[in-house]
Amino acid sequence: MLLQWLPESIVPMILQITPPDVYSKQPDRMVWDLDISGSFSISSVYNLVRKVSNISIFSSNIWLTALPAKISFFMMRMSSGRLSVMEVLQRWGVCGPSRCTCCENPGVDSIDHIFCAGDVPRQVWESFQVEIGDFATPSMVKHAVIQWWLRPAKNKWLRLVYQVLPSLICWHLWKARNVAVWEGKVLSAMQVHGFVLSDLCDIL
Ligand SMILES: [Zn+2]
Repeated sequence: MLLQWLPESIVPMILQITPPDVYSKQPDRMVWDLDISGSFSISSVYNLVRKVSNISIFSSNIWLTALPAKISFFMMRMSSGRLSVMEVLQRWGVCGPSRCTCCENPGVDSIDHIFCAGDVPRQVWESFQVEIGDFATPSMVKHAVIQWWLRPAKNKWLRLVYQVLPSLICWHLWKARNVAVWEGKVLSAMQVHGFVLSDLCDIL
């Protein structure tokens, strides 16, 4: 029967295996060799066929089970400059006034400005500093985010805070920017701070 289905060369190897004892309590079942549990999993197949590349600091800190998927996707779009701010739209030929909503004297509606260099975003980042003068506030959002990710943590909970906090700050700055642009309501840094803190508490 085995010869009907299998190459001749492996049939003797199979015949050497003692069949399971019918009185044994272990059920006779098919097992998946790539997983210790014996159960099939997509991840084990993926690991078998994929080419392992270097771990990206961005990917390893935004794709977290603790973060809602919508925030992870948003961070991916932000880090690759794919958000519909005026600076990006102008590159696609869409012209319009590029005025931020975060400063008293309006600056440009660009990713680095609305997430980092503007008045409100800078105040929000600084409001989460543990000690005064902890970090110099950079002008690029990628630098602001990475500063938190590289911060040494004393335990796994603090590690989680340092991992999710930059994504929550960016997410709520984006929501605040959109409320200001589309509904005309400008939120203060303390209001944005409150939303971030509330989400952080929920995650913890
Ligand atoms: Zn601004």
